[in-house]
Amino acid sequence: MLSTENKDNNVTWHCVNIPIFGRMFKYIHIGGLAVLFFFFSTVQGFGQASKCGFAHVVTALSEQSTEVEDAISSVREEKPRAAAKVSASVNVTVPVVFHIVLTQTQLNSIGGIPGVERRLDSQMKVINMDFAAQNPDISSVPDGFKPYIGASGIQFGLAHTAPDGSATLGYEVIITSKTGFDSDGSYGSGFGFSGAKYSANAGADAWDPESYLNIWIVNPMDNGRQTDIVGLAVPPYLTGSSVPREEEGVTLHYAAFGKRVALNDIYVKGSDQGRTLTHELGHYFGLFHIWGDDDGYCPNNGGKDDGISDTPPQGYPSSGCPTYPKYDNCSPTGNGIMFMNYMDYVFDQCALLFTQEQVARMDGKTVFGEYAFSLSQHPWLLSYPDPTTTPVNSYVMYPNPVDHLLNITFRFVPTDLRTIRIHDLSGRMVAAIEDATGTAYHSFNTGNLHAGMYFVVLEFSDRQEVKKLIVR
Ligand SMILES: [Zn+2]
Repeated sequence: MLSTENKDNNVTWHCVNIPIFGRMFKYIHIGGLAVLFFFFSTVQGFGQASKCGFAHVVTALSEQSTEVEDAISSVREEKPRAAAKVSASVNVTVPVVFHIVLTQTQLNSIGGIPGVERRLDSQMKVINMDFAAQNPDISSVPDGFKPYIGASGIQFGLAHTAPDGSATLGYEVIITSKTGFDSDGSYGSGFGFSGAKYSANAGADAWDPESYLNIWIVNPMDNGRQTDIVGLAVPPYLTGSSVPREEEGVTLHYAAFGKRVALNDIYVKGSDQGRTLTHELGHYFGLFHIWGDDDGYCPNNGGKDDGISDTPPQGYPSSGCPTYPKYDNCSPTGNGIMFMNYMDYVFDQCALLFTQEQVARMDGKTVFGEYAFSLSQHPWLLSYPDPTTTPVNSYVMYPNPVDHLLNITFRFVPTDLRTIRIHDLSGRMVAAIEDATGTAYHSFNTGNLHAGMYFVVLEFSDRQEVKKLIVR
């Protein structure tokens, strides 16, 4: 048996990786749900024993298949590229789509659609600044580590053309019937919150992973209980026989998404500056945890490393906001460990940099022949379908499929919207709002409609937009 799960009544859960005969054994203790909810709802924070689920998935998948194990090793042990050369030549913008899969209550708790848009906006700014080493706090990198700062040529943009060619804001909102999704669930591959990645399981289907980087915003759980995990990446090299390509991408905790604006915004403690996504994108583009996920072992003493030579050896993950210099068993002198690296576990406000070699590896994944190359080959997805009629007032229709209440929310109050009608497949009108002008929020009770496919027709003064709707 390669992994052991042990439930007890501790408050938080801890992952301990113990290398034995070259394999990783994982022991998980899952804590009390009621206590976690108490912390979550009152002080908006709880322990961060295991912030990121990436190492768990990597371990589980390598135990399943030697093919995946080899793929992981080849990324981890990849020889350093000519850092400056690769980074200088890469200049790509990756189209990103966010699938917000939450209950109505969870969506409300982050401010509804306006709250989602605010978090999205700050989230995109954070990852773009962090990757470019243009983050305002980069000056806080200690002098000893400043020479290692790397600036990536990868940038990210919200997708504005959807797979069907229609205009999109770069996100969709799915009101789910599930209170959360398990990290090792039973739907899909069973790895990495796969249940959230299928509309047939009250989640959201990926958009073509060759063209879009998919990000799911969910309530993360483990065996039906709240977890400490705030993010998890499934990079393309992990997909194959066990994990389908449609599960590639990043999953984030809905309370670790975007950047805090107000003091009472709901966030997981230490994860309120948008850096969970910076960290997970690091995994997506080929990076590993800076301490090597080997529970204290050092690279020169039988342990694993992150495969990056300009990050100092490190034994364990850091937490909170340590004081520089911080020494450990693997880096006992000099600058000590680079706890302020995005690939460690410190609080968001204390994570500050990628190194040059980390950046070279990430940028290298976007070049011809590498697994993220295709993401840079569809730049038109970043623009609206017809730039001459750029929809300045886009809207979202959710949930779809719908059970009983369909919402249509505009970004701004529309002045050119006339009517909204729902037609069945035979063309018969089954519901309508005849005067839709001047209101940003519309809703339909669909409870009396038979299950099946319908068309929602939005009639504007100068055009008509038709959307498919599934009624369950
Ligand atoms: Zn991680």
